[in-house]
Amino acid sequence: MYLCVNFMVESEDKLSEMRFSALLERLATGESPGREGWRLLLTALSGEQDCRLRRCASEVARRNFGNGIYIRGLIEISSCCRNDCYYCGLRRSNRQASRYRLTADEILDCCREGDRLGFGTFVLQGGEDNAQSDEWLADVVRAIRSEFPERAITLSVGERSEEAYRKFRRAGADRYLLRHETRNAEHYARLHPSAMRLDRRLHCLEVLKRLGFQTGAGMMVGTPWQTVDCLLDDIAFLEELEPEMIGMGPFIPAAHTPLARYSSGSVALTLRLVALMRLRFPGALIPATTALATLDPAGRKAAVLAGANVVMPNLSPLAVRGKYSIYDSKAYTGSEAAESLGLLQRELESIGYTIVYGRGDALSSERRQTDRILI
Ligand code: SAH
Repeated sequence: MYLCVNFMVESEDKLSEMRFSALLERLATGESPGREGWRLLLTALSGEQDCRLRRCASEVARRNFGNGIYIRGLIEISSCCRNDCYYCGLRRSNRQASRYRLTADEILDCCREGDRLGFGTFVLQGGEDNAQSDEWLADVVRAIRSEFPERAITLSVGERSEEAYRKFRRAGADRYLLRHETRNAEHYARLHPSAMRLDRRLHCLEVLKRLGFQTGAGMMVGTPWQTVDCLLDDIAFLEELEPEMIGMGPFIPAAHTPLARYSSGSVALTLRLVALMRLRFPGALIPATTALATLDPAGRKAAVLAGANVVMPNLSPLAVRGKYSIYDSKAYTGSEAAESLGLLQRELESIGYTIVYGRGDALSSERRQTDRILI
């Protein structure tokens, strides 16, 4: 029977309805489809199956989170970076990049504004800036924690020592975003200079988990030299790590970087991955990323309809917004802007969703809805 199905798959390069349903059911019962199952789900779906996949994923998100979408206020605390990632506009070698770093007071002012607007989470993201030392950042976190005891604090400031992460945790940080970018060592080595090590990044993620951070990993989709097998490595890694947050966005070329002339990643493939990860991790926090919204004005709605449940409007001071230019044409106005939550709300309402004003933590496994999806 399965031989026959496999033969059909190979000969038509498309997935039979039966095999597709079997893979969906496997996901619905909390099991992994396995590497070859994932390969089929990534490469062999018909247009109709793709739609069905997204519908199932949004249904699972709705069962777990209702029609609520969590919002995070994103504060980009520094555009200075000691690293030299080939894809990133903020890389150290980019002489054209505008550099700034926020002071502790400026960051606190952003949080006050975010608090006034109703954000339940503040995300402090930045380049790996030596001037913003571990102690300094821990102090900033402590100040935010004492002024806003009810709010969640997320950090996303790259690779730091275990000691540093421990300090941040003790100071009151709840979550940490550190995309692994790619789990394939050869691919990693083509996207980063040799001083940057994949194993160090993966070790950081392990440490963050161990210290009790709600931890976010994830990958760029469609970076140069990415193959289906790279994505299968990414998925296998996510299955191993079980992160609470999974951030995935299409690669977008950044001017004045070694990858400036490569094409952007595919929006459709990113949406496929959002849907697949929602099915595999029903309780995870999965953002509709700014990169998706940048490539496609309808990208954010499409991501929500594929199972994303988080958006991260920009709460950085207006004077520096636009300088945190990790890739070209990054969206930061309109509904990407924290002060335009009305626009975002209308956008979400148009597809039957609504903003949720809370901390928006990941669901613990006990609270996760894992019963079968019957669509
Ligand atoms: N320094 C922090 C934050 C990096 S910016 C860190 O290392 O985690 C946040 C994310 O933007 C990165 O993790 C990467 O996945 C994404 N990014 C960087 N350059 C990009 C590009 N050119 N296209 C799409 N996403 C990019």
